[in-house]
Amino acid sequence: MDLSPVSTAEQSGANMMNGIQIGAVSFVDEGVENVLDILQRRGEINTIFLTTFTYGRGLAGRQIPGQPFPDHGSQVSDEKTFFGGNYATPHLEFYRNTVLKETRAPEHGNIDIVADVLPAARKRGMKLFCSVEDVFREDVPGVIDCAEVDLQGQKRSTLCLFNPNVRAFWTGLVTDLCTSYDIDGILFFNERNGSLISALGASHSQSISSSRVTCFCEHHQKAAKVHGIDFERAIQGYKALDQFVQTSLKGQRPTDGYYVEFQRLLSKFPEIVAWDKLFDLGKHQVLTEVNAAIKAVSKNLQVGFHIEHVNSFNPYFRATRSYEDLAAKSDFLKVVAYNNCGGERYATFISNIGSTIFKDVPLEELMRFNNHLLNYGDEAPLDKLATSGLSPDYVFRETQRALAGVKGKCLILPGIDINLPTGKNSRKASPEDSYAATLAAFKAGSHGVILSRKYSEMWLTNLDAAGRAIQDAAKG
Ligand SMILES: [Zn+2]
Repeated sequence: MDLSPVSTAEQSGANMMNGIQIGAVSFVDEGVENVLDILQRRGEINTIFLTTFTYGRGLAGRQIPGQPFPDHGSQVSDEKTFFGGNYATPHLEFYRNTVLKETRAPEHGNIDIVADVLPAARKRGMKLFCSVEDVFREDVPGVIDCAEVDLQGQKRSTLCLFNPNVRAFWTGLVTDLCTSYDIDGILFFNERNGSLISALGASHSQSISSSRVTCFCEHHQKAAKVHGIDFERAIQGYKALDQFVQTSLKGQRPTDGYYVEFQRLLSKFPEIVAWDKLFDLGKHQVLTEVNAAIKAVSKNLQVGFHIEHVNSFNPYFRATRSYEDLAAKSDFLKVVAYNNCGGERYATFISNIGSTIFKDVPLEELMRFNNHLLNYGDEAPLDKLATSGLSPDYVFRETQRALAGVKGKCLILPGIDINLPTGKNSRKASPEDSYAATLAAFKAGSHGVILSRKYSEMWLTNLDAAGRAIQDAAKG
């Protein structure tokens, strides 16, 4: 493994942003001062990424159900009490232009987690960013009016990014947080994919959902019209794609082969790709608006975007993104480089695309081919990927690629896998794994790290190891 230093000359330990993602429940369960003490002393953390808005369990709540609790915090599942929402105090004046007004997270009573943690973090010289994530649930007031519409014409629990209520909610939320609290900025998460990737399950942990693909709501139709995309043809195209996916899953091979049939569909219905691109357009318009809203409060506030794991696995997805474009609307990018769970996630990606469009290719060969396309190094073969995980070299390469991509226009803070939950028989990260992954990011020249996904699933022994790597990196 080549881990030769690249730009460590430009790095200095004091300037690094060494962050951790953490949700409200950890501070409630373990006490604000106690947790900050552990993060600072054991994890060498100087920046808190405090989960402030989400209905998702990836960033909020205790350890997810079915996974063992780590060696700290409550050992009782919050499966029944977890709800999600805004863990700060929503100030109504910021939500005038949206129907999404009642989002306060109910599970910790009147606690305002930002108001509680911010002064304590400041006293210790720590930075604090609010993390907000686009994950909703259908029983939140107003969601029904913003819901995406799927290929069957049914409403979903995901929100349409072309719905004006949704646009106003995201800009209202970040403006509220940046105005109401003296924070350092926002880290914005949106892991949702466009219709083509969703139809094929061509992501890191997605099921194949060609029949329920979104979004075909009135706001999408309007946006399509503006961009000259024929709505009826898009529907026809996605119905044909669904047919192809369903017959492929049943193993009914098209006469000319799976890939040729897929390519034929794309040629016949260019609207399939156009509709997928339209989703990405909406997603990136939201990023632009979020950035503008935050900077309108203060130019000193920092804006970061979470770059999801599929970016590591899927060449098509990669081609739809440009790090340089993302750098133009952000101060830093949190590039997911989760190596341990990356093994099983990459295996899922290969297995999904290998069950439809690449079904004629043996999976092991398909993965080797994909490795070449993405410049993967010496990773485990497919049958051992889940039990081996991806290597620290993967973290190194993804960090370097991001640094090269942004051309110095924003900071790169790789997301480091600290005990992300994996399947029963998949690799569990040892402290040595956490040390190696963290150090690899610095060796590649990162401007810091963000330990992920959340403190409530991390083992303190692994946090110690990440802290040691941060210390060793600072020594050079
Ligand atoms: Zn829509």
